[in-house]
Amino acid sequence: MGYLLSTLKSLYATLRQALSKPTTVEFPKVKRERAPRIRASFALTKDAAGDENCIGCKKCEKVCPSEVITVVASKKPSPVTGKARGYADDFTLNLQACIICELCVQVCPTDAIIMVKEQEAPGFSRADLTLTMDKLYKNAETKEKWAWANATVLGEHQKPAEEKKPALAPKPVPAAAAPTPTGAPATATPATAPPATAAPTAPATAAAPATNAATLAAARSPASVSPPPADEKKGGA
Ligand code: SF4
Ligand code: SF4
Repeated sequence: MGYLLSTLKSLYATLRQALSKPTTVEFPKVKRERAPRIRASFALTKDAAGDENCIGCKKCEKVCPSEVITVVASKKPSPVTGKARGYADDFTLNLQACIICELCVQVCPTDAIIMVKEQEAPGFSRADLTLTMDKLYKNAETKEKWAWANATVLGEHQKPAEEKKPALAPKPVPAAAAPTPTGAPATATPATAPPATAAPTAPATAAAPATNAATLAAARSPASVSPPPADEKKGGA
């Protein structure tokens, strides 16, 4: 009797699950709504005139902790303005080891590389997970795909935090400001000692948290953009 009861219980549990609404979807046929700030893949952008924004500076390649970006750069005349400038002759990003840290987007001085919300279609080989230049430019075709930020927007988000920090820092008290009684013995003026010791430490502590944002801002500065190496210029010509 006991066996029959437990069998019936199991059948009831199976039947209940079989008839309940599934909690999974058949991706990629069905795509669930994503979180507003999801970042799933990458794209390369062009400016309003249709010229490529990427200047081949390789900052994204250098900053990438997973070393999955490869840029081959050269200097050549722009098809739009006719002026010589840097271009990426080849740009590949391997999604297999990307950790979605977005550092490559943050350091780009021209907002050329961005992240997009849309995931790549499932791949059947390793090559399917490599984003070539063609794929990257195609990913940027519709703005609806773009994720919430590019390098400029991310830089703006860091500014308020930097501006607040000096206000939080304690004001250093100059050692000379404390009154010293005339004719008093040297041991009777301990009040001057603590401010003198505290003064140098306060600014140093306040400056430290801003280092990360300042480093990224300096890295994005157009002045720090170096032209492509001479050997690559030759190779790309
Ligand atoms: S940092 Fe930006 S401009 Fe420089 S190579 Fe990368 S995508 Fe191009
Ligand atoms: S998101 Fe991070 S790991 Fe991925 S390509 Fe950019 S820098 Fe590299």
